[in-house]
Amino acid sequence: MWSKRKSVDYGLQRRRTLTELQGALRTMVSHDALDADPLLIRAALHHGTLTERRCPVADCGRLLTLNYTFGDQLGQYSGRIKSEAELTEMENEFGEFTVYVVEVCTECGWNHVVESYVLGDGTARKPPRRIATVEDIYG
Ligand SMILES: [Zn+2]
Repeated sequence: MWSKRKSVDYGLQRRRTLTELQGALRTMVSHDALDADPLLIRAALHHGTLTERRCPVADCGRLLTLNYTFGDQLGQYSGRIKSEAELTEMENEFGEFTVYVVEVCTECGWNHVVESYVLGDGTARKPPRRIATVEDIYG
């Protein structure tokens, strides 16, 4: 994507977490690290992009990635999951927003932020006008 910048690779943290996780599994102290939010697993099944990377925890299969988008200019839509195609459109529609790439194993629940980067054309814009949600109407 043409506007990609401020890219951060979380590979180092990922390795550290995996080491800690394997330590926990060995001592059978805790499996908490594997308890993924069921919503995250469901999101990955519906919106995830299949990668070539395999699950680092067990022989589960290939990992999926999700793109979470955050930024003031996204207004109430900050925090949504977006596809690669949507990101390509959004980088021309917004000045600046951050993408967090989360990899997810839908088998065992392994999940971790692998990368973050900033997209957008650099032109500051007001967030889109807030649209009433079901919560606004029905409390
Ligand atoms: Zn797994």
